[in-house]
Amino acid sequence: MNNDYYETLGVARNASPEDIKKSYRRLCRELHPDVAGASPDAEERIKDVNRAYQVLSDPDKRQQYDLGADPLAPGGGEAPFGFSGGAGGFQDLFDTLFTAATGGAAMRGPAPRRTRGRDLLESLTLDLPEAVFGTSRDLTVPTFAHCETCQGTCCAPGTSPRRCQTCGGRGMVSRVVRSLLGDMRTSSPCPDCQGFGSVIDSPCPECAGTGRVRLRVKVAVDVPAGVGTGTRLRIQGHGEAGPGGGPAGDLYIDIRVKAHPDFVRDGDDLHCTLQVPMTAAALGATLTVNTLDGEREVSINPGTAYGEVVTLDGLGVGRGMSGTRGDLRVHIEVQTPTPSSDEERDLLRTLAAMRGEEHPEAKLAHAGGVFSRLKDKLAGR
Ligand SMILES: [Zn+2]
Ligand SMILES: [Zn+2]
Repeated sequence: MNNDYYETLGVARNASPEDIKKSYRRLCRELHPDVAGASPDAEERIKDVNRAYQVLSDPDKRQQYDLGADPLAPGGGEAPFGFSGGAGGFQDLFDTLFTAATGGAAMRGPAPRRTRGRDLLESLTLDLPEAVFGTSRDLTVPTFAHCETCQGTCCAPGTSPRRCQTCGGRGMVSRVVRSLLGDMRTSSPCPDCQGFGSVIDSPCPECAGTGRVRLRVKVAVDVPAGVGTGTRLRIQGHGEAGPGGGPAGDLYIDIRVKAHPDFVRDGDDLHCTLQVPMTAAALGATLTVNTLDGEREVSINPGTAYGEVVTLDGLGVGRGMSGTRGDLRVHIEVQTPTPSSDEERDLLRTLAAMRGEEHPEAKLAHAGGVFSRLKDKLAGR
């Protein structure tokens, strides 16, 4: 036992009452069994600390002590400090410490029956045209809705909750626990009202006293143009209705867009590949392409090479509410014929002779042309 109370609390002899209080709180925290667990002398030390604080926090006792008497010594005239309560100042302090340690649970009032409903998450798979132009879809969502029988009051019609007598409507019951720190008041939810502070004797039969019922609800979803796989839409107030008539949560919808057989999306743009016979690529042509907007004409210039791109402005993916759209980029795939008759072979040979191409030179094309750049982009490189 350490009888130098100033040393025990780690304060100077002229420490202010505030300093003494602070130091005491700090030691309580440090020596708390949950913290100091491993330290075998914590129990002894906390007793010393309590004794020291009992003396130094009381101006009269502190004065006696400063004059050389120990107010806690047997026969000192004062009841020794014990764990038996009655030390109002300590109790307050313990409450403060305990409250801090439990995140303020001890200060909480009754729990509301009316709380916000949970958010819901659904998924929706779209075809590419739906993502390009936007769409509306009906989703059937399993959820909670407000109980119409009790209007969310949780009580059978004509009845109302009564105040819980066990906790007096506070929702919490407290009890005093003895510990090394002295008497500690702990609070916990009232077992008779589950912390609500009120008791419903006649719960609504429709919702079993929860204020809401489980059902499937049809929700009309407006999908804006331009959504893609990974887009999450939020529809406010279409989540689960809250218990006890509480506000509804939100409905979130994860979008997935299915691959399209003809069109590939890259941001706001769409890409497709158009197969063009070699002769048409050489002579030039106007071809009709079936785009997502219907048939459109694509002009092929004479001498069009494999991989050239024809851009159709404004036929790409819609950009939300702005009304603007990306482009459709048509990649030309020139089809090289295999001559299927002597006549075709002769014609091609004649053409080659006319163009001096009977013995073509080996010429490497420069790497990184339009097509390879695009392929890299689509491959995510
Ligand atoms: Zn009800
Ligand atoms: Zn209660």
